[in-house]
Amino acid sequence: MSAHISLKKISLFFEQHRVLDNINLDIFKGEFVVLLGPSGCGKSTILNLLAGFYQPQQGTIFCNERSVQQPDPSRGMIFQQPNLFPWLNVLDNVTFGPRLSKHNRELVNARAREWLKRVGLAGFEDHFPWQLSGGMKQRVALARAWLPGPEVLLLDEPFGALDAQTRMMMQELLRDAWLENQTTLLFVTHDVDEALFLADRVLIMSAHPGRIVDEVTLPFGRQRDIETLVEHADYRYLKQKVLQRVRYEAKRHLTSS
Ligand code: ADP
Ligand code: MG
Repeated sequence: MSAHISLKKISLFFEQHRVLDNINLDIFKGEFVVLLGPSGCGKSTILNLLAGFYQPQQGTIFCNERSVQQPDPSRGMIFQQPNLFPWLNVLDNVTFGPRLSKHNRELVNARAREWLKRVGLAGFEDHFPWQLSGGMKQRVALARAWLPGPEVLLLDEPFGALDAQTRMMMQELLRDAWLENQTTLLFVTHDVDEALFLADRVLIMSAHPGRIVDEVTLPFGRQRDIETLVEHADYRYLKQKVLQRVRYEAKRHLTSS
């Protein structure tokens, strides 16, 4: 089976500073991959490359075996900040998009209303961003990202700014949407619990230069319950293993810089 998205021998420099060093990564269709690593190791840079926001100096990025040259609505992105347009209401924020503008407005609005209902925002279509909490705004961003039916979703610490309770709800929501739509997901976080609940496979990075140094395929299956996952026979061991590796990388970076 060929990979859905693929980074082949990617090296990237900002000025003469090597940020990514020979990254090789295959992600398969419908896979949920989580990227963990110390701050500054290049996680966001990898997502930005996959989104097509910029090009590496060395190596090639492939999506469906075609080289990625520029952004495309088939590859959506969700950031830590919801980045809503303050002058548009919730419905118009969700339906704002280059691909959607070509479609029948009634149809797009109907689908947007369905997504808003899914994320628990039915009845808020006419509200403006300033009338919403942080968690609600991020749910709008989630609905907006899913609406065009992307093949790939790139998520850059999307729940990092939310309180613990809201974050858990968002994680469940994201998993449900992923299971239903079979989208390929690459999700960046520094939260090990979040990684263990969400991922099929966790990748651990090291910094300066950014490299992928470890990979753990999780044995939890795809039907997971956030409350009972910790009771899985391998959970404690895996959490310990991933935590140690992430902490080791973070410390190594602190003592070497
Ligand atoms: P992470 O998301 O893992 O915290 P980033 O991908 O944002 O890390 O950044 C990786 C490294 O590249 C950091 O050292 C950062 O300072 C540097 N960097 C990121 N973007 C730029 C840029 N546009 N210009 C120069 N340096 C950058
Ligand atoms: Mg980042």
